[in-house]
This record gives sequence, C-alpha cells and structure tokens, in this order.
Amino acid sequence: MESRAIFFDKDGTLVEDVPFNVDVTKIRFSRGAEFAIRKLKDHFQFHIVTNQKGVALGLFQEIDLTFVRNKMALMFSDLGGELQGFHYCPHGPDDGCACRKPGTLMLERAALEHGIELSHSWMIGDILDDIEAGKRAGCKTILIDNGNETEWVLNEYREPDHMAKDLFGAALIIMSQERGL
Ligand SMILES: [Mg+2]
Ligand SMILES: [Zn+2]
Repeated sequence: MESRAIFFDKDGTLVEDVPFNVDVTKIRFSRGAEFAIRKLKDHFQFHIVTNQKGVALGLFQEIDLTFVRNKMALMFSDLGGELQGFHYCPHGPDDGCACRKPGTLMLERAALEHGIELSHSWMIGDILDDIEAGKRAGCKTILIDNGNETEWVLNEYREPDHMAKDLFGAALIIMSQERGL
C-alpha cells in the first residue's frame, strides 16, 4: 500500500457542489476528476475529507453519508481506482470539534489508520479551510480556484502551495512535483 495520499475535499472539489446533497443520483465528478484519478491511482491512496454540518443541522443523517460513501467508492472503482477512506465531520462550526476543517483530526486519523506519510501527501480543496487543514497536518496543498472561496482570510496556513483551475490542473501539478510519475 502506498504511504502517500491525496486528500480530496468533496463538495466543489471532487464533485460538483450541490449544497447539502445526499441524493446519490445527483453526485457528479467535477471537471478533471476522472483524469486525476486515472493518472494518480497507482501512486497514491485516495481519501475524501469532508465537512458535513448537514448532520448537525438535522438536514440528513449519518446513514445517508454511508450511501454517499458507497456511491463515491463505485465511482472510483469504475475508473480502476480505489477510495481508501471517506472521512467526514458531522459537527457544526460552533461545536468546537477537532475534526471539522480547518481542524486536522480527519487527516491525522486517516494517517494513523492507513499508514500515510502526511508530509508526502496532498490536500486539494476549493476553500482556504481545506488548505489550512492540509498545511497544519503537514501536507502539500492545492487550492482549486473556482470562485468558491469568497472571504480570503489569510494567515500562514492559508496560503496554498499551488493553485489550479480544476482537477486537471491539480493532477498536472502533482505529476510535475513528484518523482516517478
Ligand atoms: Mg468544498
Ligand atoms: Zn467534527
């Protein structure tokens, strides 16, 4: 098993953003996602790390996320890839948990459970909370600059290592930065 991982934010990064969606028929890969999975699948574990405050808000239940996870796993396997982990935070912003991004607990737990070397891994997201979580955990980071970040509150952890328009661009960055790809 590879000790490097790609951590994908889900909504707006790996899949098209449909707010609070748990209807598996509405899940679509975002632009470049299939390319990224095909190009990187032999070199990285794939993990999704996603904030799902819809659970805290009572909009859906954790069992709904199990169906989403299973659908996503099928979408990866259709491309010959494997989704090794689907990690979600069910809490709200005011719950004070350590898992909600920009917290790092989802990444750290995944690393422990799956033997991942975080410093050799990448976090890809569409907002700076994703970037901050990745950088605080010691990963390299790529911001998908698709307009989903609107606040641009910066600190030393919120400056992405790289920016890309979509997952095509992100995959090309990773391929150019990593030896042996
Ligand atoms: Mg997102
Ligand atoms: Zn949480």
